[in-house]
Amino acid sequence: MRKKIAAANWKMNLTLEQGEKLIQGILDADVKLEDDREVVVCTPFPYLMAAKEMLKDHAHFFTGAQNCASEKSGAYTGEVSAEMLQSVQTDFVIIGHSERRQYFNETNELLLKKTLLAMEYGLKVIFCCGEPLEIRKENKHEEYVQKQLVETVATLSADQIENIVIAYEPIWAIGTGHTATPQQAQEVHAFIRSHIAKRFGNDVASQMTILYGGSCKPDNAAELFACEDVDGALVGGASLKVNDFTAIIRELVNSKS
Ligand code: PEP
Repeated sequence: MRKKIAAANWKMNLTLEQGEKLIQGILDADVKLEDDREVVVCTPFPYLMAAKEMLKDHAHFFTGAQNCASEKSGAYTGEVSAEMLQSVQTDFVIIGHSERRQYFNETNELLLKKTLLAMEYGLKVIFCCGEPLEIRKENKHEEYVQKQLVETVATLSADQIENIVIAYEPIWAIGTGHTATPQQAQEVHAFIRSHIAKRFGNDVASQMTILYGGSCKPDNAAELFACEDVDGALVGGASLKVNDFTAIIRELVNSKS
């Protein structure tokens, strides 16, 4: 069963108290989720335990971290390992977000190391890919995204790839208010799915969850989720407001399987 997911990426926002209020607001909305729909709340590291405590009795609600270390353990001051995330029952981890690629110089090679460690410790990975504006303008976005996948998740085994959710996040759409059109999103999502099919076969590809990210909001979520190959969204700004994120979850629930 291909899962549809609304994932919140809080980035470096909110205090613990604000974050707890936000989660409580989402839970209070009491949106009913079928078995194939999930909500993932990716909080800053210090809030993961509190978030887990609030979500643990709510089926279909999961916690996620926004990063993890590329080394197992040891003298890496300030880093948080995949094993640590597992020890506080974190379910997902975002790897390869464009902000980490851009501001922290994370390469495909490093991201693959992180992905392998995350899976070793039982975490599901939301693996981000997506092109900058100049690449889109040159119409080279498909080959750009393909390279990001070829050097990372496409090297995994068929068993491992089941733990991966891909998030297509065109950089020009992140935090800019310029959402990709449904056609633009669908085109790249279909391309990603066909790439996965070539590498892992049709069954794996048809089960894979591919999220869209980049200025997803309540007023564009329905049309994005209506696209055949868009299985939900990774949401930044709009995930910080109870009403907006709840509205996006509702659109996910209303979208066709
Ligand atoms: C993101 O950072 O993953 C994201 C999609 O941000 P926004 O929704 O704010 O564009």
